[in-house]
Formats: sequence, structure tokens, C-alpha cells
Amino acid sequence: MGIQATYLGMPLEINDLDVENLAYFGHCAKHTFHLQRCDACRLIHYPPTTGCPWCASPKSTWVPVEAKGAVHSYTEVHHAIQPAFKQFTPYLVLLVDLDTQKGKPSEHEALRVMGNLATPDGKLAPPDMVKKVGIGTRVRMVFADVTPGLAIPHWTIDEGATQPAKPWRYPE
Ligand SMILES: [Zn+2]
Repeated sequence: MGIQATYLGMPLEINDLDVENLAYFGHCAKHTFHLQRCDACRLIHYPPTTGCPWCASPKSTWVPVEAKGAVHSYTEVHHAIQPAFKQFTPYLVLLVDLDTQKGKPSEHEALRVMGNLATPDGKLAPPDMVKKVGIGTRVRMVFADVTPGLAIPHWTIDEGATQPAKPWRYPE
């Protein structure tokens, strides 16, 4: 069965044929992070999909993955695309290099997982937190519950990690 829900005024839908995303967000709803590991080449891939991007095998197994990493790049959004997001501007969209499988299959690659910067309880981060985060900031995943079977994965500052002295930010 598919899922229809609303998140911050934005309609979300996962079609019942989209079994990969139903599985992915179903794990998120349990506040656990799982990705598909290819049964043939054993590499993990993201985003959820039907075939392995490395070897094209259609067979994979969902495995738990440590949801920690460092910001690879970011976008600071000042003009909300969705009216309900306006109260949270500026907000950050992060592209995070997971520690798991970083540098494989080549030194330039990593599992790069998108998400918004959020507070530890999964709300979009306030401006003073947005200002602290840049490329290199260590983050961990948190989840915002939406409806049964669906939670949104976000990133928050990893309080337990050693942070870079000055994470790189675009000149302002
Ligand atoms: Zn493969």
C-alpha cells in the first residue's frame, strides 16, 4: 500500500509500486537508517533504486548503516519554494558524505545523502545553528515523523564528534 501525507504543507506521496522508497522510508519511520547492499558486488548504494549502479545486479539486501558523516556541500535557502518553509529561512540543504564506504569504489566517491539541517528533535534548524555549519561539519541523522511508515531523515550537528575549527562556508 502506498503512502500519502503532508509535511510542512507539502504533499508527499510514495506510490505502492515504489517498493524501494517504501522500504527506505519505512526504516526511517522506525528511526533506523538502512540502505541497500548489492548481493553481487557487496557495495552499498544510495538513493534507493532497483539496480546496483556499480554492477547492474538487481539483487540487494537492506542493511543497517551508521548514519554519521561530514558535510560534503550545502545550499543555504533564503527564498522558500514552499510557503510553509518561509518561517524557517534561511535553512540549509546538506549533502553529507557518510563515513561508511567513503572512498569506495574510487577515492573520489562516497555515499552522499541529502537532508536538511535540523535540531536534535527533527525541526528545521534556527538561523544561529545554520550559521555554524559548513563543509566539513560532522553531522548525525535525526528523523522527523510524518505518518505511519514515513519519517523524513534530516541531519543535525554531531555533538559528540570533533568538529573542524572553521568549517568552510561560502563568502557572505
Ligand atoms: Zn553491485
